[in-house]
Amino acid sequence: MKKYAIPVVMLMVFETVAVALWLTKDNLFYLFNFSYIGLSISLGVFLFIRKYRHARRIVQLLVGLYMLVYLGLIRSENMQIEGFWYYLFTGAFEAATIHYAVAKIFGPLLFGRGWCGYACWTAMVLDFLPYKVPEQPRKKLGWIRYITFAASLVFVAALFLAHAGNLERIMFWAFLIGNALYYAAGIILAFAFHDNRAFCKYICPITVFLKPMSYFSLLRVKCDREKCVSCGKCRRVCPMNVDVTDNSRKRENGTECILCMECVRNCPKSAL
Ligand code: SF4
Ligand code: SF4
Ligand code: SF4
Repeated sequence: MKKYAIPVVMLMVFETVAVALWLTKDNLFYLFNFSYIGLSISLGVFLFIRKYRHARRIVQLLVGLYMLVYLGLIRSENMQIEGFWYYLFTGAFEAATIHYAVAKIFGPLLFGRGWCGYACWTAMVLDFLPYKVPEQPRKKLGWIRYITFAASLVFVAALFLAHAGNLERIMFWAFLIGNALYYAAGIILAFAFHDNRAFCKYICPITVFLKPMSYFSLLRVKCDREKCVSCGKCRRVCPMNVDVTDNSRKRENGTECILCMECVRNCPKSAL
């Protein structure tokens, strides 16, 4: 039963956060929210240990759909980066701020870009596209993410400076339109570059937070150099072009690893 310790510990961590936030903020929503996410992730890890091939996709759908449909559309929480700026400017420590702190700013110090592999509702759709393994070399277009990052900040700052009315409503529409644009851009780029994750590599503004924090991630895929025969299969199946055979933190595209475990699954020598 030892191998199931990780999902049990993960569930306990999430339950602790759920109960702590429920009691300190006197809001039952936090108990439900973090319990649901903890259960979904623990179920995914459990299925992964059982070697179920679609474990990651199941977690991605459970968490991604919950955030997009329930939190975003039904509860009108803008969980996009504009929502983060909005709640930060208003000083409200609400779902979007907590979500960013846990999943995208401080959490990556522990679990790297696990968010991108297991929970993001944009990638949840992009991962259904046909180019699971990039068919073209990586482009030098990563600078675009800084423009989209700055644009999201300028957009929300401008709303505040202009004293725009009914900001809640504007943020809800920004969530709908922003998501539609993300999906459209993501699908077009995937087909243009023959790479499902092209949007993640070049456009996504959230990577401005994710990449530097995940550089220090505790959870990393490492290579046992004694077992490795340098066949290159891990590199060929990686959706993010990571050189996982290099154990240093400066490995090529190291901050892009989404912990999808395709390299681990495909290594013929179980070196990862
Ligand atoms: S890079 Fe952006 S779009 Fe891609 S999975 Fe991560 S958060 Fe989602
Ligand atoms: S797939 Fe395994 S054996 Fe082949 S290069 Fe990668 S780590 Fe080494
Ligand atoms: S294939 Fe391996 S190195 Fe590439 S993103 Fe997935 S876990 Fe990371």
